[in-house]
Amino acid sequence: MGRVEKGVKCSVAGCEADAVRSIAFKRVSEAGLRLRGESRRAYLCEAHYKEFKKARRSVDKVERMRWKP
Ligand SMILES: [Zn+2]
Repeated sequence: MGRVEKGVKCSVAGCEADAVRSIAFKRVSEAGLRLRGESRRAYLCEAHYKEFKKARRSVDKVERMRWKP
C-alpha cells in the first residue's frame, strides 16, 4: 500500500478525483469497485479509498466464515 505521486487520477470508472492511495488491482476489484483498464495497481481517491475499506471488511468477513467455521 503506497503513496501516490501528484497528478495521478483515481482508477475508478467515471471518477476524476486525484488519487491518494495505490492498492493491488486484484484487491480493489475483489472489493467490488469498478475500475477502468487493468494494471498491477489501482489508484484510489479519498472517497473511493473509504469505500474500498468498507467493502473490504465484508469481503474479509466472508472469507473468515469460509475458512474458519
Ligand atoms: Zn475516485
